[in-house]
Amino acid sequence: MKKMEADVIVVAAGLSGLSAAATAAENGLKTLVFEKSNNTGGAANMGMGPLGIGSRIQRQSMVALTPGEAFRKHMFYTHYNVNARLVRDYYFKSGSTIDWLEDTVGVQFAGVERMFTAPEDTRAYSDGEFTWHIVVPEGGGRPGPRAATAMTKKLTEYAKEQGADFQMETPVKSLIVEDGAVVGVIAVDKNGEEIEARAGSVIVATGGFGENPQMIQECTGFEYGKTIHNFAIPGMRGEGIKMCWAAGAGKTPMIMEIMYQLPDNMNHFVMDGAFRQPCLWVNRDGQRFMPEDQIANTTFTGNAIASQPGKCAFIIMDSKLLKKYKKHGPDIISRVHPLNMYEVFEEELERDIAAGYENVNKADTLEELAEKMGIDVEGLVAQVEEYNEMCAAGFDELFEKDRHYMEPIEKGPFYACRQHVGAYGSLGGVKVNHKLQVLTEDGKVIPGLYCVGTDACSIFGDSYPFTLPGNTMGFCLNSGRMAAEDVASKVNAW
Ligand SMILES: Cc1cc2nc3c(=O)[nH]c(=O)nc-3n(C[C@H](O)[C@H](O)[C@H](O)COP(=O)(O)OP(=O)(O)OC[C@H]3O[C@@H](n4cnc5c(N)ncnc54)[C@H](O)[C@@H]3O)c2cc1C
Repeated sequence: MKKMEADVIVVAAGLSGLSAAATAAENGLKTLVFEKSNNTGGAANMGMGPLGIGSRIQRQSMVALTPGEAFRKHMFYTHYNVNARLVRDYYFKSGSTIDWLEDTVGVQFAGVERMFTAPEDTRAYSDGEFTWHIVVPEGGGRPGPRAATAMTKKLTEYAKEQGADFQMETPVKSLIVEDGAVVGVIAVDKNGEEIEARAGSVIVATGGFGENPQMIQECTGFEYGKTIHNFAIPGMRGEGIKMCWAAGAGKTPMIMEIMYQLPDNMNHFVMDGAFRQPCLWVNRDGQRFMPEDQIANTTFTGNAIASQPGKCAFIIMDSKLLKKYKKHGPDIISRVHPLNMYEVFEEELERDIAAGYENVNKADTLEELAEKMGIDVEGLVAQVEEYNEMCAAGFDELFEKDRHYMEPIEKGPFYACRQHVGAYGSLGGVKVNHKLQVLTEDGKVIPGLYCVGTDACSIFGDSYPFTLPGNTMGFCLNSGRMAAEDVASKVNAW
C-alpha cells in the first residue's frame, strides 16, 4: 500500500473541491486532491456561472442588491428551515469570491444576469435577482451551456500553480477514522494500488448522487428515467455522502435540484427550448394546472409538474403562435437555448418524429394531437374551448395569467411537447455547521472532517431558489473556500 501525507486532503476536484484546493494551497497548506475521473470540474463543466452578491461586476452594472437583502430573501423563501448562519456567511462571502476568481484566478465574466424576469403583476413574489455571473467561454463568443468549463480550467491551473497535488483517476473509497476523528482517506489509483493518505483535515466534495438511481429513489422518492429525467453526470454516485455517514455524520433532508426538461434534452435542445413559452400548458387530463406566465421559474414549474398525474405536462402551440414566435421571437427569451430555435423548429421536429422520439409531435386537429401525445381527448378539447373563450374576453378567469400571453389555440397544424420533471443533480445529505465542519446527528463536530458543495448543500429547503440564480455553483465555490480557510486558520495557528 502506498502512503501519502498532507495538511489537507480534498476528496474530488469538481467545483467545490477545486475551490477548496485552490484556497488551501494559496494559504500555504500542503494540499492533496483525489479525483475519480480523468478530468476536473465535475458537473460545473456543464453550466454557465455562479452567484455572487456585492461583486465588483455587479456594482459596475448598477446592481444594488446587498448580501443582507439576499440573505433575508433566502430565509423568507426557505421559511427559516435551513441554517441561517451558513446562508449568511455564504452570501456575505460570495461577492469577494467573484472578485477573487477574476483578479487572482483569472476567470473572465461576461456580466451578471437574472435567470428570468416575471410579468409586472406577478413580479413582487416571483422575480429573479441579478446574481448569476456568466463565465466567458473558452475562445469567447456568446456564453451558453458549458461556458463554466473556462472557470474550472482556470481554477485547476491556479490550484496547481499554488502547489496542490492532483491525483487523477484515483477514487477515494473510505475515510480513516481514529478515536472519533477523521485523519485521512483510503484511495485506489488507476493501477489498482491502494493508497493510505493521512492529513489533519479531509474535505469531502463528491457532487451528490445524481447518477445513482437507487439513492435517488430511496432519498427523494423519484424514479430515475420514469418520474424524473435529471442530468446524470457520470461519477455522482453519492460516495462522499456515504463515507461521511459511515464516519458518523448526521443526515439532512435530501432533494433533487428540480426543474423541467425533455428526456435526453441535450440532444433535443431546440425542442426543449422552443416550447418553453407561456402558451397553453395542460396535464394528462387536458387541464391547465398553473398560470403559464410563471413557467420561466423552472423550479416552480418542475414542482407543479411533479404533482400532476403521471408527473408530466404538455405544452400546446398552434400555427399562428409559431408564426408569431418565428417573426417576433419568443415571449420568454432563454439565456441557455439557441437564438435561432424557431428558424430550425420544423426541421428539428420532423427529425425527432422520424426518429421515434415520443415527446414531441404535431397534428392537423387537436383530437389527433391529444391521441398521439397521450392526453385525454375530451379533456383537451374542452380545455381549449374554455381557454379560447377567456382569450377572446382578454382575461384568464382561472389563474389570472398575464393577458399579453392569452393567445387562442385555434389554427392547425397543432404542436405539442411532453415535459417531464428534470433536475440538475441532487442536493444535501451531510449535516454541517457554518464552517462546513461535519456534524453528528446530535450536532457534535467530527474532528478533521469537512463537507462542501452539493454533498452538504441543504440550504435551499424544499426547492432550489431560482430567484437568486447561480446558487448551486455559488454555494459550491464559497463552501469550498470557507472550509479551506477554516482548516488553514487552524494549521497556521499551530
Ligand atoms: C447542465 C447543468 C447546468 C448547470 N448550470 C449551472 C449554472 O449555470 N449555475 C449554477 O450555479 N449551477 C449550475 N449547475 C449545477 C452545478 O454545476 C453543480 O451544482 C456543481 O457543479 C456541483 O459542484 P460539486 O463540487 O458539488 O460537484 P461537481 O462539480 O459535480 O464535482 C464532483 C466531483 O466528484 C468526483 N467524485 C465523485 N466521487 C468521487 C470519489 N469517490 N473520489 C474522488 N472523486 C469523486 C467526480 O468525478 C466530480 O469530479 C448546472 C448543472 C448542470 C448539470
